[in-house]
Amino acid sequence: MLYRLKNAGYDAFLVGGCVRDMLLGREPKDFDVATNALPEEIEQLFRNCRLIGRRFRLAHIMFGKDIVEVATFRATTPQTGDDEARQLEDGLILRDNVYGTIEEDAWRRDFRVNALYYNISDFSVVDYTGGLEDLRNGVLSLIGDARVRLREDPVRMLRAVRFAVKLGFRIDDDCERAMVELAPDIQKVPAARLFDEVSKLFLSGFALQTFETLRHYGLFAQLFPATDSLLESGDRDHMHRLLVRGLENSDKRVAEDKPVTPAFLLAVLMWEPVLDQALRLEQERGMKPMDALYAAMGDILQQQAERIALPRRFSIQIREIWSMQSRLERRGKRALKLVQHPRFRAAYDFLLLRGEANPELAEMCDWWTAFQERNDNGRENMLKKVQRKRSRRRRRRGGQGQGGDEHGGDDGGAD
Ligand code: ATP
Ligand code: MG
Repeated sequence: MLYRLKNAGYDAFLVGGCVRDMLLGREPKDFDVATNALPEEIEQLFRNCRLIGRRFRLAHIMFGKDIVEVATFRATTPQTGDDEARQLEDGLILRDNVYGTIEEDAWRRDFRVNALYYNISDFSVVDYTGGLEDLRNGVLSLIGDARVRLREDPVRMLRAVRFAVKLGFRIDDDCERAMVELAPDIQKVPAARLFDEVSKLFLSGFALQTFETLRHYGLFAQLFPATDSLLESGDRDHMHRLLVRGLENSDKRVAEDKPVTPAFLLAVLMWEPVLDQALRLEQERGMKPMDALYAAMGDILQQQAERIALPRRFSIQIREIWSMQSRLERRGKRALKLVQHPRFRAAYDFLLLRGEANPELAEMCDWWTAFQERNDNGRENMLKKVQRKRSRRRRRRGGQGQGGDEHGGDDGGAD
């Protein structure tokens, strides 16, 4: 692609993360190209090309199974705050597409290490901002005034954490100071954009370290206020253990090339706030435990969505993982069907995590592990045993019949 652009008389460079990663001897995740060819000109050169974006027009070129993003050099637009951009979008859509020189393109980028260009015409790396020096020193520094650059786009704070963790780099002092000061600016970022960033942060394969770094800079509190305030309230070893195990678990899966879903991690991150809210609803509004739990799930998901917009398919999965916890604990007649549920595996993994954080659940976890290994007959026997035990217990308690915790369970159409 670079050569085709070059042969057509344009300048073309690899840029950004791929140059950075290759110089570090790492395999780039994807490739980005920057060029002085305009989007329409790029389109003329490549058959498998699609122009995307309204504010910033970019070319996506299919390269085998991958998509390479080809962007025309851009200059900084003064104050591209989101409101401003939206205003432009209403009327003069393309006004925001201010093309520039390669050097202007370099200065508008976030970190110095992300503003390196690989030039195919002489196989050199072009460095306008001092990125090579940072790369040698293992430092992340923002281009220009750190406070200005973070105000312009607070997501850069999350990117700083992501790159620092992934590359094992130190965040430079100016950037660090500005981050601590400007962490609350995260609230200015549209909730939908934060979902993408947060997914990248936690599915990176370094979720645990990311979590700790975000906490260190006060950024976690901005993203997950309810979870953070519980962690801060002390006496939450339980909860901390659950989070750490959940994050470790996800990192392990990434390392083993197993699929990870943001739904599972989000379910882990918000579980304690749900339990906490459920307890409050019970105590303050006298709700029954199960009603309170279900209401709390809704409350917490709604609160969280104000910060991070969860696509519906994920909030549904999260709710399923949570609501299956009580059904798993109940081990009722529907257990046979429960194992067929598309979210069973995730819910079972979630139960195991809870079991690691809370030894009282150990027996329950073993039971479900054994249950899955049995055939239908074996499973039915296991269920009968549980039921016998349960009715013995009920009789001992004086035959009080249906306990309060039976609501919404085995009779629920939801499974
Ligand atoms: P990754 O390995 O995660 O892909 P990356 O550096 O390639 O890292 P991208 O999000 O793919 O990150 O962005 C590509 C390049 O675009 C970055 O290297 C950077 O130069 C520029 N960039 C991306 N996001 C921003 C931003 N918020 N502000 C300024 N420049 C940005
Ligand atoms: Mg990239």
